[in-house]
Amino acid sequence: MFLTVTTTGTPERPATDLGFLLHKHPDNAQAFSTSYGTAHVLYPEATAERCTAALLLEVDPIALVRRGKGKGKGQGGAPDAALAQYVNDRPYAASSLLAVALSTVFSSAMRDVCKARPELAGRPLPLSVEVPALPARGGAALVRSLFEPLGWSVSVEPVPLDVRFPEWGDSRYVRLVLDVPDGKLTLGEALRHLYVLLPVLDDAKHYWVSPDEVDKLLRAGEGWLANHPEQSLITSRYLSRRWSLTRAASERLELVRLADADDSGIEEIDNAVDEESDTEEAPVPLAVRRREAILAALTEAGAARVLDLGCGQGQLVQALLKDVRYTEIVGVDVSMRALTVASRRLKLDRMGERQAERVKLLQGSLAYTDKRLKGYDAAVLSEVIEHLDVERLPALEYAVFGSARPRTVLVTTPNVEYNVRWESLPEGHSRHGDHRFEWTREEFGTWAAEVAGRHGYGVQFVPVGDDDPEVGPPTQMAVFTRAADRRDSAEETPKGVRAA
Ligand code: SAH
Repeated sequence: MFLTVTTTGTPERPATDLGFLLHKHPDNAQAFSTSYGTAHVLYPEATAERCTAALLLEVDPIALVRRGKGKGKGQGGAPDAALAQYVNDRPYAASSLLAVALSTVFSSAMRDVCKARPELAGRPLPLSVEVPALPARGGAALVRSLFEPLGWSVSVEPVPLDVRFPEWGDSRYVRLVLDVPDGKLTLGEALRHLYVLLPVLDDAKHYWVSPDEVDKLLRAGEGWLANHPEQSLITSRYLSRRWSLTRAASERLELVRLADADDSGIEEIDNAVDEESDTEEAPVPLAVRRREAILAALTEAGAARVLDLGCGQGQLVQALLKDVRYTEIVGVDVSMRALTVASRRLKLDRMGERQAERVKLLQGSLAYTDKRLKGYDAAVLSEVIEHLDVERLPALEYAVFGSARPRTVLVTTPNVEYNVRWESLPEGHSRHGDHRFEWTREEFGTWAAEVAGRHGYGVQFVPVGDDDPEVGPPTQMAVFTRAADRRDSAEETPKGVRAA
């Protein structure tokens, strides 16, 4: 299995910069061991005008079969299938292996990170990619419809089954050459396209597809998959047609698309915070007072493992990280853009190992249950519920209070009664373009009491910001505490001892 990436350059911008971007020096041939064999990186050509890096994967078929069997399903495979396992095209053609090798060997390049020469990373460059033998189910037409919408010009030639017998027709392999002129794609984007689309064309994974593949797909698909015309085929094939995963991915992509489309990206969230702090009476901005109120409530609850649901750009996560009593902090957001900003703010890629172990950022939608969110001490939803349509609130309620079920849940939301006190806010306007609703104290109180009642929580209300005698505080916070429900007390009763 073999692929090459070529770029061209000038004396001022030599093509050999590719070596910095890939973190592999053009003068050396290097080998990396991966779980399925050895990956070699070498440069057949390395001049200022033209530089080609080749990735060659030498698969160990025995390791492949052993690993495939060892995972999950026990060792009860039928013995007569053994030969078929050893004699197949996987070592030579499995694109999913090549994709795994790409992500292992070029992991920084895939994220457009370049430590040695940061100024090079994330800059578009002219690229040409060649895969001499690519299994392509769906043929040349599908190859085109996958790559062309992303800006590539595609040349695809079928490989005959046997050159000596042209009448046998074509194999399912093609020789693929992709080109993109300067100014369109970064190396990271190009690698992420290959990482997803090569296995999609092969349509056969060499490993069991687990739920975290959805995250990998969304991460690699950031910035292009949500709006790709073949998105549903890509998602379904990438996830080996496991429909529950495919559905989860499609739903999340839909939300990404909505979030990106309605302009409610970073700028607007930024503005929201600015707007609110501008209008806030000096000196402490409301966003800061909100964070202080949340931190105080978490301290009171004695929480150590905390979810920040709808974490946005990670300001609260950052504050939690500074306090050692928080041993595990998980930020969740549907917006990949917000998470990217958060990860930069936290300097996740430069964090020491011990710090890094305390924090995680996950992409996910709060409108769907998510097993990764179970078992935490507390969850914070700071200025999040009003970003969901009212009809989606029952889904969020179930995901948080029914499924994740942390001991403590903090929910903050604007108090719409207070809007008359914002001088810069025209009457009847909400505080932020993306707010789907803003509630009075009574509306929030009713919702919170019903949620608490349905899921076995108690609830108390805390004003945030100056509590106006007439219209109340600018922000309202509900503190939900899980009642020691029956199941919990039953678990506390030792086995065989019946409570009187
Ligand atoms: N908690 C932060 C950010 C609030 S802005 C703060 O207090 O400053 C609201 C955030 O909720 C945005 O980052 C938005 O992307 C996120 N969000 C909106 N709908 C979501 C959903 N369904 N699932 C997860 N996050 C969502």
